[in-house]
Amino acid sequence: CALPGSFKAAVVRQPGGPFELETVQLNSLQPHEVVVRIVATGMCHTDMVARDRLYPIPQPIVLGHEGAGVVEAVGAEVQKVVPGDHVVLTFLSCGACRPCLEGVPASCQNFNALNFSGQRSDGSHALCHHGNQTLHDRFFGQSSFAAFSVVDQRNLVKVRPDAPLELLGPLGCGIQTGAGAVLNALKVAAGSSFAAFGGGTVGLSGVMAAYVAGATTIIVIDVVEERLALARELGATHVINSKKEDPVEAIRHITGDGVDFSLESTGRPEIVRAAVEALRPRGMCGIVGASKTGTTFALDMNDVMQNCKVLRGIVEGDSIPDIFIPQLVELYVQGRFPIDKLIRFYPFEEINQAAHDSECGKTIKPVIRIG
Ligand code: NAD
Ligand code: ZN
Repeated sequence: CALPGSFKAAVVRQPGGPFELETVQLNSLQPHEVVVRIVATGMCHTDMVARDRLYPIPQPIVLGHEGAGVVEAVGAEVQKVVPGDHVVLTFLSCGACRPCLEGVPASCQNFNALNFSGQRSDGSHALCHHGNQTLHDRFFGQSSFAAFSVVDQRNLVKVRPDAPLELLGPLGCGIQTGAGAVLNALKVAAGSSFAAFGGGTVGLSGVMAAYVAGATTIIVIDVVEERLALARELGATHVINSKKEDPVEAIRHITGDGVDFSLESTGRPEIVRAAVEALRPRGMCGIVGASKTGTTFALDMNDVMQNCKVLRGIVEGDSIPDIFIPQLVELYVQGRFPIDKLIRFYPFEEINQAAHDSECGKTIKPVIRIG
C-alpha cells in the first residue's frame, strides 16, 4: 500500500514543552496496523501530564491521544477497516491478558507498556526523523498530534460516516472516561444522586451520562463559574463553587445523607477525601483524576468502614471502546449527549495556545484541526 511521505507532527523535546511542529516520516507499517489521516484530535489533561513528565514517559515524543480521522492504508492482516472508513482512536490493549479476556481492556496488564513507553512492544517506532535521532511515539498507541497516525487495529473504532468526525476524537479518552465511569463503572441509575468533583471534560461527560441515565440529583463542584454554568445546561440540578462554600456541607444540605455516587476528576488528594465524605452510607466514589507519581491521600477510616463506603479507581471509563464509543456517537446524533458544547477548535499551528487555554480554564476541550 502507498504510505504517506513527510508530514507535520507536534514534538515535545523537554519537560514543560512547548509542542514544536516538525516534519516527520513513517518508518514502517506492521501487518496488524493501520495508517489514519488525522482530521482532528482532542487535547486532554493527560497530554500535559506527559508533556511535563509527571509520568515517566520518554521524550522527544509526539503526544496526542484523542485522534479522529480517515483510514488511509491498512496492513496485510487488517480485517476491521478499509481505506476511507471513519475512525476514532482510543487506548491500546493487548487482548491476551486476564483483564482483557474478562472484557475490561482498560485494565489491560500491559497498559503502560502499550500506551506510555513511547515505542511499540517490540521496541520499534512508527515515526522517524530525517536525522537518525530517536523519536518516541505510540502515546496511547496513536500519537495523534500529527497529520498521520499509525495504530494497531485494536485501538481504532469504526464510526458511522455521517457523524461529524471533527467532534468525535475526545470520545476516545476524556469523554469516554467520564461517561464510562458513570455508565459502566459506577452504574449510576435512574432516580439516584451523583456528584462530579471537577467539571472539566471528564466531569461534565459524567454529568451528561448521569442525565441520560436518569439520575435525579446531579451536583457539580468546580472553582470556575463558566464551567458551573455549562454544567447546569448539561443537566446538573445543583452547582457548588468550592472556593465559596464547603462542598461536603453543601451536598449534605442538598441531599440530607449524601450522594449515592461521586466522581473525582481533579487529581487532588483533598478532593478525594471530600468526594468520599460526601457519599451516603454504601455510596461509591470513583477516582479518575491523574496526579504526580507517588501522590497519596488520607481518609477517615471509620467513615469508610462504618458507612460501608466503596472507593474505586477507574481507567478509561471501564469501557470496551468498540461497543461504547459507537453508543456515545448515537446518543450525540440523537441530541442526548451534546459533546459539541465542551469543544473549541484550534488550528494545528496554535497547539500551544490550545494547551494554555485548557490549563487556565478558558477552554474545556480543545480540539486541534489537522487535516
Ligand atoms: P480538566 O483540567 O478540564 O478538569 C479538572 C477540573 O477540576 C477543572 O474544571 C478544574 O477547574 C477543577 N478543579 C481544580 N481544582 C479544583 C478544586 N480544588 N475543587 C473543585 N474543582 C477543581 O481535566 P479533564 O480533561 O476533565 O481531566 C480530569 C482528570 O482526569 C485529569 O487529571 C486527567 O489527566 C484525568 N484523566 C484520567 C483518565 C482515566 O482513564 N482515569 C482519562 C482521561 C483523563
Ligand atoms: Zn486522555
